[in-house]
Amino acid sequence: LTNLLHATEAQHLYEAAREAMANSYAPYSKFAVGAAVLTFDEKIYKGVNVENASYGLTICAERIAIGNSITNGNRDIRAIAVCTRAAEATPCGACRQFIYEFGPGITIVYMSNGILVQKTIAELLPLGFDGSMLLHL
Ligand SMILES: [Zn+2]
Repeated sequence: LTNLLHATEAQHLYEAAREAMANSYAPYSKFAVGAAVLTFDEKIYKGVNVENASYGLTICAERIAIGNSITNGNRDIRAIAVCTRAAEATPCGACRQFIYEFGPGITIVYMSNGILVQKTIAELLPLGFDGSMLLHL
């Protein structure tokens, strides 16, 4: 199972994440993040990080983007791009698990020192937890 994108597709998705980043709400950290989900029917759903004065309530861009996709009835996620101004930034651990829910083959697109990198979520989260592990009593 590979969901790897062609270079032009990856660039396009990353640009969508970058566009979203402009709307980030990060008054405390100033660490703006944009994310863009690509579905198998080629729709794109964006998200940004949303901070809160009660810091722990902050939500990451990746989870907002996935929520946007799910809200619009689209669960068939192929890839998700993440954009920040850092030289390299990958999804946090919580987001890795959140993404994994929708398939171990989902491709993560991110920038690493000027190079657009693609890795599957299973590569970024080995042995991720999934519904098959739930004990049904
Ligand atoms: Zn996160």
